[in-house]
Amino acid sequence: MQSTAGVQSHEALELLKTRLGSRVVTSGPELERVSRDTSRYAPIGEALAVVFPESTEDVSVALAWANQHRIPVSVRGAGTGLSGGAVAFEAGLVISLERMNHILHIDPVNRLADVQAGVINGVLDKAVREYGLFFAPDPASSETSTIGGNIATNAGGLRCISHGVTRDAIASLEVVLADGSIINTGARTLKNVVGLDLTSLFVGSEGTLGIVTAATVRAKPIPEGTPHTFRASFDSVEDASSAVTAIVNGPIATEVLELLDARSVEIIEEYQSSGLPTTGAATLIGQVVGNEALSGAEALVALCTEHGAIETTVNQGDGLLEARRLANPALNAKGLRVSCDVGVPIGELGAVFRGIEEISRKHDRGISVVAHAGDGNLHPTVEAEDTEEGYAQAELVIHDITRLALELGGTISGEHGIGAVKQQELSWQLSDATRAAQLAIKTALDPHHILTPGRAL
Ligand SMILES: Cc1cc2nc3c(=O)[nH]c(=O)nc-3n(C[C@H](O)[C@H](O)[C@H](O)COP(=O)(O)OP(=O)(O)OC[C@H]3O[C@@H](n4cnc5c(N)ncnc54)[C@H](O)[C@@H]3O)c2cc1C
Repeated sequence: MQSTAGVQSHEALELLKTRLGSRVVTSGPELERVSRDTSRYAPIGEALAVVFPESTEDVSVALAWANQHRIPVSVRGAGTGLSGGAVAFEAGLVISLERMNHILHIDPVNRLADVQAGVINGVLDKAVREYGLFFAPDPASSETSTIGGNIATNAGGLRCISHGVTRDAIASLEVVLADGSIINTGARTLKNVVGLDLTSLFVGSEGTLGIVTAATVRAKPIPEGTPHTFRASFDSVEDASSAVTAIVNGPIATEVLELLDARSVEIIEEYQSSGLPTTGAATLIGQVVGNEALSGAEALVALCTEHGAIETTVNQGDGLLEARRLANPALNAKGLRVSCDVGVPIGELGAVFRGIEEISRKHDRGISVVAHAGDGNLHPTVEAEDTEEGYAQAELVIHDITRLALELGGTISGEHGIGAVKQQELSWQLSDATRAAQLAIKTALDPHHILTPGRAL
C-alpha cells in the first residue's frame, strides 16, 4: 500500500507533468539509468521521476516544484562521478542535464566559451581547438563527463600540474537555486572583485547549493611545437617520488606528471597492451610542451636517472598518456572498484607510498596506486572479494589510507569529492565548527535541504 506521503508525491507529480510534459519520466530504463553513477554507492529505493530539462527555465520549474513539495533532488551530468553524489534518492527527483548540451558561443578574442552544463568536456575541447585554443581541465573521463559535473566536483585531471583545476578555467556561472530563482556569478573579465566570489562557492559544491545550468569557461592557446612524452621506470616508489619532487621544484615546466605503481601497470597492460614495461616498482609518465619540448623532456629524464630511474624513454605524441587514461576502465574491468582519492603535500609522496605498502601488508590485501604525482593526488584501489564482507573489509583499508593522508597533512579528496561515499570520513578533516559554517551557507541557499541532502557537506 502506498503511504500518504507517497500518494501526495504522485499527485504533485501530475502537476509537474502538466508543466514539463514528456521531459518528465516516471519509470523504466531511463529512470533506472540516471539513478546511478560510476561509484560503488547503490541507490536505496526507487526515485519518483527524472526530469530532462531542455532549458534553464525547465530547471527552474522543476526545482521550484521540488522545493514546494519538499522532494529530495539529485543532480546528474553524465554519471561518471566516483563518489555517489549523483545517485538518486528514494522517492526523489533526478534532474539530468544531459539534453542541455549546446555550446552557445565561442569568443576566441577573449578566449571564452559559453556552454550549457550538459556539454561533454571533450566536445568543448574539440570545438575550441578550431580556434587554436584548448580547454585545460582534462579529467581522464573527458570523453564522457559534462562541464556541469566537472564544475560541481571541481574536477582535476592530468594537466592540473600546469593549468590548475576546473575552478581555474571558470569565468562565470548561471545557477538555479533550490527555490527556482536564477542567478549569475562572476564576469567575463579577467579581473572582477564585485561582491562575494560565488563562482568559487558553487565550484566543487557537488550539487548541494544549486544547479549549474550554464558557464562561461576560459580556454588557452594551444602551445606551439610538438609535445614530447617521457617515461621513467624505477626500482622503488620512493625513488620515483623523489624524482617527482625534484621535477616539480625544478626550472622545466611539465604539462603532465603521473605515477603508476607496478600493480597498476600490470592491470593496464592486461586490459590493453600499451607497451608499458612491467618491470620495476613504479613508472613515471610526463609530458613537456612548447618549442623546447624535446630538450625539456630529455632534461627531465636525465633528472629521473639522477634519482635512480633504471630505464627511460622520450617519444612524440600522447600514446603514453592514453595508457594512463586506461587505468580506471582497466581497474573496473577487473572488478576493482573500492578506490579512493586522497591528496598529500608533494614532499610527502614517498611517505604516503611507504605507508600504503605497510597498510597493504597489515591487511594482507593488494593495493594498486595511480597518482597525479605532480599534484600529490593518489588513487589507491584495494583488491576485494566480490562479497558484502569482502567490500566491507576493503573499506577498512581505505579508511587506513585516508587517515594516513590526513596524518601527512593531506586531504580525504583531491578531486572526486565527498558525495555519499565519503560522508563518514568528512568529520576526520573538518571540525564541527567548520561543518556548521558550511551547513549555514547551504541553509541560506536551500532552506529545506532539498538539493543533494545529507551528502558532501
Ligand atoms: C574513467 C573515469 C576517469 C575519471 N577521471 C577523473 C579525473 O582524472 N579527474 C577527476 O577529477 N575525476 C575523474 N573521474 C570522476 C568524474 O568523471 C568527475 O567527477 C566528473 O567531473 C563528473 O562529471 P559528470 O558529468 O559525470 O557528473 P556526475 O557524475 O553526473 O555528477 C557528479 C557530481 O556533480 C553534481 N552535478 C553534476 N552536474 C551538475 C550540475 N549541472 N549542477 C550542479 N551539480 C551537478 C552531481 O550531483 C554529483 O554530485 C573519472 C571517472 C571515470 C569513470
